[in-house]
Amino acid sequence: MTSMTTDFCVVGGGPAGLSLALLLARSGADVVVIERARSFDREYRGEILQPGALELLDQLGVLPEIRRRGGYELERFQLVDHGRVLMDVDYRSLRKPYNFLLSLPQRILIEALHLACSAQENLHLIDGSSVNSLIFDEDRVVGAVHGSGDGARQVYAHCVVAADGRYSKVRRLAGIEYDRIEAFEHDVLWFKIPADERRVHEVRVYRDAGSPVLLHDSYPDRLQVGWTLPHKGYRRIAERGIEHVRGEIAKAVPPYADAIREHITSLTDLTLLDVFSGTARQWARDGLVLIGDAAHTHGPIGAQGLNLAIQDAVTVHPVLMRSLNTRNDGVAVLSEFERQRRPSIQKVHALQSRQGKAMLSAGPVADAIRPVAAKLLSYTPLYRKVLNQIAYGDRPVRVHYELLVA
Ligand SMILES: Cc1cc2nc3c(=O)[nH]c(=O)nc-3n(C[C@H](O)[C@H](O)[C@H](O)COP(=O)(O)OP(=O)(O)OC[C@H]3O[C@@H](n4cnc5c(N)ncnc54)[C@H](O)[C@@H]3O)c2cc1C
Repeated sequence: MTSMTTDFCVVGGGPAGLSLALLLARSGADVVVIERARSFDREYRGEILQPGALELLDQLGVLPEIRRRGGYELERFQLVDHGRVLMDVDYRSLRKPYNFLLSLPQRILIEALHLACSAQENLHLIDGSSVNSLIFDEDRVVGAVHGSGDGARQVYAHCVVAADGRYSKVRRLAGIEYDRIEAFEHDVLWFKIPADERRVHEVRVYRDAGSPVLLHDSYPDRLQVGWTLPHKGYRRIAERGIEHVRGEIAKAVPPYADAIREHITSLTDLTLLDVFSGTARQWARDGLVLIGDAAHTHGPIGAQGLNLAIQDAVTVHPVLMRSLNTRNDGVAVLSEFERQRRPSIQKVHALQSRQGKAMLSAGPVADAIRPVAAKLLSYTPLYRKVLNQIAYGDRPVRVHYELLVA
């Protein structure tokens, strides 16, 4: 089996892995990124970037390329209850120039990060190969093996980074337990319809007949729709056939009922998403650190996952450079990342849980409380605090420019 040696072996070329690889390479470290997908035609989830992610991508130097490739600025988030706007969150009130949500296909984000990574001579991108095992020296992780059979390759590294998403194989290979949090008690049916002349310029949650619906513009010419259902409720509804399902969705979002009737013609037009939250019990062990969805996973409420993945990369960057410069890859050093980050992640999980309950819960009590609570929130300083937390996170995260040499 052939082998190579590097400073950092990043497993997973998603938003977390590529952002981190770029930072490490620009700090002078040798980096290898191993990505399972052969091309950019991957299954992506999540198209909304919060202002905090936009600011960090700007600091990374990739935002201009992203903007050149497309995307829509969305100005507000609205909760619309039976035609009445209960909550109206105005992103334009945030500080410029990051005073909007950016809706863009995640492919554009990945392509722009990939392009920036390709320009670094000390960064080696291996696409189309999966990591299937880790290399240990006693209890210490010292590398990873990707590919299989005659094509298997060993990559030895000062430190391995698991950035391989919610179902992280590296996490499993390292024997790190993962706890699901049942914060989101809904399933989501995910689909797109043509926008035609009906772009909304915002993210909206509609509460009308039946289950709530999330809707936003999807670049370049679609509307992304997410129909939330009680957990495990889809099979019962789907058994009654496409006519019934289509009718239920149309009732749930009356302004788009005709487009749904026209464009949803088969159950295969709908994707049922496995939506869950959770965290790994530890985010580091000797020679290994977990970031992004591999360390902590989030449901779609409040569009937090991409923000957090990029913030993780920026936060772990100085920790990893210190570890490299002192040649110390011990868990005590690498866990500094978890110490800094876990409290913020716990706050995001708690906030998402409250948002989910406030917007999606059903029943006469919830229906009576919702307008009062929404009004109260809109007129108190809490509104500003919550908006800032959703947009930027619990505490400021910034790129450590002083570590960059390229
Ligand atoms: C329905 C839904 C909607 C969402 N909407 C939003 C949203 O609007 N905004 C938002 O911010 N977040 C959203 N999210 C969350 C967001 O998609 C994730 O949090 C984010 O993609 C995490 O980035 P990551 O880099 O950690 O992991 P991922 O994006 O999952 O990337 C992991 C990468 O690792 C690769 N990989 C996996 N296993 C291996 C292996 N063994 N070897 C090599 N490579 C491997 C994968 O191919 C992938 O490219 C949503 C999530 C869901 C479920």
